[in-house]
Amino acid sequence: MGFGVSYVLQLMVMFSLMFVCALSQDDVVMKKLKTTISKNNLDWSDKDFCNWKGVRCSGTKRVTTIELRSSTVEGSLPQELVQLTELTYFRCSGNSLSGNFPYMPNSLQKLYIDNNKFTSMPNDFFTNMSNLIEVAIDYNPFSQWQIPFSLKNCLALQTFSAVNVSFVGVIPEFFGEETFPSLTTLKLSFNSLEGNLPNSLSGSSIQTLWVNGQKSNNKLNATLSVLQNMTSLQQIWVHGNSFTGPIPDFSNLDQLYDVSLRDNQLTGVVPSSLSSLQSLKIVNLTNNDLQGSPPKFQDSVQVDIDIDKGRHSFCTEVVGQPCSQLVNVLLSVVEPFGYPLKIAQSWKGNDPCHGPNWLGVVCSSSGNIIIIDFENKGFSGSISPSFASLGTVTKLRLANNNLTGTIPKELASMPVLQLLDVSNNSLYGQIPSFRAGVVVNTNGNPDIGKDKPHGSPDSSSGGEDKKKLGVGAIVGIVIGIVGLLGVGAFVFVIYGKRYNKCDNKVQTPNAIVVHPRHSGDGNAVKISVAASESVGASVAGGTGGFSLSSSVQNVEAGNMVISIRVLREVTNNFCDENILGKGGFGTVYKGELDDGTKIAVKRMQSEMVGDKGLDEFKSEIAVLTKVRHRHLVALHGYCLEDNEKLLVYEYMPQGTLSQHLFDWKDDGSKPLEWKRRLSIALDVARGVEYLHGLAHQIFIHRDLKPSNILLGDDMRAKVSDFGLVRLAPEGQASFQTRLAGTFGYLAPEYAVTGRVTTKVDIYSYGVILMEMITGRRAIENSQPEENIHLVAWFRRMLLNKDSFDKVIDPALNINEEGLKSFWTIAELASQCCAREPHHRPNMGHIVNVLAPLVEIWKPAEPDADDMYGIDFDMSLPQALSKWQNLEGISNTLDVSYSSSMVDSCENTQSSIPPRSPGFANSFTSTDAR
Ligand code: ATP
Ligand code: MG
Repeated sequence: MGFGVSYVLQLMVMFSLMFVCALSQDDVVMKKLKTTISKNNLDWSDKDFCNWKGVRCSGTKRVTTIELRSSTVEGSLPQELVQLTELTYFRCSGNSLSGNFPYMPNSLQKLYIDNNKFTSMPNDFFTNMSNLIEVAIDYNPFSQWQIPFSLKNCLALQTFSAVNVSFVGVIPEFFGEETFPSLTTLKLSFNSLEGNLPNSLSGSSIQTLWVNGQKSNNKLNATLSVLQNMTSLQQIWVHGNSFTGPIPDFSNLDQLYDVSLRDNQLTGVVPSSLSSLQSLKIVNLTNNDLQGSPPKFQDSVQVDIDIDKGRHSFCTEVVGQPCSQLVNVLLSVVEPFGYPLKIAQSWKGNDPCHGPNWLGVVCSSSGNIIIIDFENKGFSGSISPSFASLGTVTKLRLANNNLTGTIPKELASMPVLQLLDVSNNSLYGQIPSFRAGVVVNTNGNPDIGKDKPHGSPDSSSGGEDKKKLGVGAIVGIVIGIVGLLGVGAFVFVIYGKRYNKCDNKVQTPNAIVVHPRHSGDGNAVKISVAASESVGASVAGGTGGFSLSSSVQNVEAGNMVISIRVLREVTNNFCDENILGKGGFGTVYKGELDDGTKIAVKRMQSEMVGDKGLDEFKSEIAVLTKVRHRHLVALHGYCLEDNEKLLVYEYMPQGTLSQHLFDWKDDGSKPLEWKRRLSIALDVARGVEYLHGLAHQIFIHRDLKPSNILLGDDMRAKVSDFGLVRLAPEGQASFQTRLAGTFGYLAPEYAVTGRVTTKVDIYSYGVILMEMITGRRAIENSQPEENIHLVAWFRRMLLNKDSFDKVIDPALNINEEGLKSFWTIAELASQCCAREPHHRPNMGHIVNVLAPLVEIWKPAEPDADDMYGIDFDMSLPQALSKWQNLEGISNTLDVSYSSSMVDSCENTQSSIPPRSPGFANSFTSTDAR
C-alpha cells in the first residue's frame, strides 16, 4: 500500500516536472526569438508569451502558432525554434528576416517563409517533417541548391511553392502520386532548373503546376507529353522554357482553365483537345514553332497567340483558315516523328513548292513534290502511311534515322515511286510488294523481314498505336482521382458549423491521451487530445493522418473525420425510423444536415465484425479516399469514436438495384424498363472499369451484387461498398486473400481457391446482368433443385434460343429494337460467367459493348458533385476558415459527446451495440505507431 502511494507521488512529481519543463522550454525559446528579431510594430511586451501578438498557445501553454506575416520584422531566427514541439503553424512571409533558416519541429504543418532575405535552408530540413501540409519558401535569396531530396518525407504535402529560390539541377522523379498523393500545388517558377518534366508526374493529382521562367541555359526541355496524364490540372504555366514537340492531348484535362505555353519551341498542330476544351478560359501560345492552321478558340477564351509579331510556323495568319491539302499531308507525314523542330522552323507558309525552301521537300518546276529527302535528320518514330498521299513523289529517302515500326503497305501504292530508301533504321516486318522497277533499300535494318523487332515484342507501329491508346485510357481512368480535398472541405463546412470534429488528433501519436470517459459507461474509453486552438492544429487532422495499416499502403484518410455527436444529431440519434437498411456488417441510417443535404450513415456493429470489421473499415476508408468517380458512391467521412465505427456516404435516394429488380411489387413501384436496366448496367460497368484500371493499383470490388448498386433520383447508378476491396500488391493483378463476397455471385475459382483477379468481379457482374434480364435472384431457393443457381439455369436456357424467351423477366415489355440489345446482353452475361476466368471479357470490353446500346446521357441537372455541396474549388484552409467563421475558433477539440444527447430513441437500446473497451484501445495501439 505504502509503496503504491509513493509510486503515485513519484508519478505526480514526474508529470509536474515534465509540465514545468515544457512550459519553461517554450518560454526560453520565445524569449530567444524575441531577442533575435526586431519587432517594430509587434506588441511582445506581455510577460506571458501566449499573449504576444501573432502567438497562440494550447491549453498547456505550448506554442502552436506563430503568425508574423508582413510585420516588418528584421533579424534572424534562432536555432531553438526546433524545440517548440507543438508548433503547427509558422508564418513570417513578407518581412526582412535573413540568415540561415533554422530546423523546425516536426509537429509543423504549415510553413510560410516567402518574401524574406533568408540565405539558406538546411538540405535535410524536410527529413523529419512528415506533418507538413503547406510549404511556401518563395522569393528568398538562397544560395544555389537542388530541390532537397529530404522533401520526399513530406508525404502529406499539398502545396509546395518555391518560386525564385535558386534551385538548380533537375526536377526529381519523386514528384507524383506515389510520394505525394495529396499534392495539388507545385510551384517552381523562376529557378534555374533544367531537364524534363519527370514521368512521375503522370497520374498525379496536381492542379496547379508552375515551372515557368527557368533561368538556366538549357531551361526545362524535352516534351510536355506527361501533362496529358495529369488529369487534375487546372493551371499550367510552363512558359519561358525550351520545351519541344507537340502540345499534348488535353482531352482528359476537363478542369483545365489556364494554359500558358508561350516562349517555348513547341511544334505541330494545335490539337482540338485544347482549342475546344470547354473549361478553358486563358491560353497563351505566342512565340512557339506551332504549325498548321492558327487555332480558333471559343469567344469566351482569352487567347494570346500574337500571330503578327510572335514567332510561329502556322500556314496562314488568319485564325481558323485551313491549310492547303498538301501542307496537311506533309504535317501528317511528320507527326509520327514528333513534329521535329528543324522541320517546323523551315516549313513556313501554305505552299511547299513556292517561296522559301522546305527542308526535305524537293519540287519540280511545275510545282509538284517529287522528292522527299529526310536522310540523316535524326528522326525517330514510325513511317506514316500518309506518305502514300504524296502521289507525285518519285524518291522517298528516309535512310540513316532512328525509325521504328514497319514499312506501311500503303507506300506500295505510290504511283510514280522509283526509290524507297529506308536503310540504316530499326524497322521490322515484311516488306510490302512494290511495283516492278521500284528500288527498295532496307539494308541496315536487322529485324526487317521478322514479325517482331528484336528484344521488344510489341514495338511495331501498331504496337505504338496501342501504347497511345493505353495512355489515353489510363488518362480517362484516373480522371476521377480529384476533389478529396473538396470532400474534406465538405466535411469541415457542413459539420464544422456547430460541432467539433471526431478526433483530428488521433493521427499525431504523441498528442494522444487515452483517459476514462465520464459517462454512464464506466468501461468505455475516449480518445482525446491536449487542447489546442491553433488553425494548424485543426488542420492536422486532415493530413497527418489516420495512418492506415500496411495492407492499404499507408493511404491517408484525409480530413474526413466526423464526430459521433454530429452523426447522432443528424440521424435523430440513430432512430429506427431513420434506418435505410441492414447489411452483413451493420445498419445504415439516413441523416439530414442543416442545409438539407442528405447522407447515409453506416454504423458497423462491433460485435458482429470484430477485428475483421476494423480491417474492412480501414480498407474501405482507404479505398474510397483514393477513389472517386461518377459511378462510385462517395464517402463523405467516417468516425472511429466511442467504440463506434461509422462511415458516412452520399445518400442515394432511389435505394438499391435489388429493390428495383426484385421488390418493386412490394414497394408499390414500377418495374425498371429495359433501357433503364441497360443504362444502369453501363454505369456499373464504368464504375468497376475505373476500379480495375486505376493507373497505379488495381482495385477489385469482390462483392458486386444488386444491393451494392445504388441509384440516384435520375436513376443513374453508383457502385457502393468497397469494404471488401484490398489494394492489389504493386504490379500484381492477382493475389491470394481471404474469401469474401456473397453466395450466388462468387466466381467458381474464387470460391474454390480464394484466388482473386479482376475476373471475379466480371463474374459477379455477369450474374447481375442475368438478374436484370430475368428478374430472378442469383440464388432462388424456391426453384427446383436444378434451377436454383441462376447462372447454371440461364446458360442452359441460352443454348436453346427457342425456349429462351422464357427467361425474360415477365415484367419487361421488350420491343423489336430492345430485343436486339437483349440478345447482346444475354450473350455478354454468359461470357462474363464463363467458368474459365480468361474466357471472361474485361470491363473495358463490356463498356464498349454496352455504350452503343445506351442512349447518351446528358446530365439535366448540375454536376453530381455540385449536388452534394462539395466545393472542389475550395482549398482546405479556405474551408477551414469558412468553418471557423461560422463557429468561432474552438478552444478545445474534446471529442466526448454529452450524455444529454442520448434521448429516448437511443435509450430504447434497440440500436445500440454493446460498447467494449477494447476497441478504442486497440485503435490507439494500432494507429499511434
Ligand atoms: P453488405 O453488407 O453485404 O454490403 P448490403 O449491401 O445489403 O449487404 P449495406 O451495405 O449495409 O448492406 O446496406 C444496407 C442497406 O442500406 C442497403 O440495402 C440500402 O437499402 C441502404 N443503403 C446503403 N447505403 C446507402 C446509401 N448510400 N444511400 C441510400 N441507401 C443506402
Ligand atoms: Mg452494401
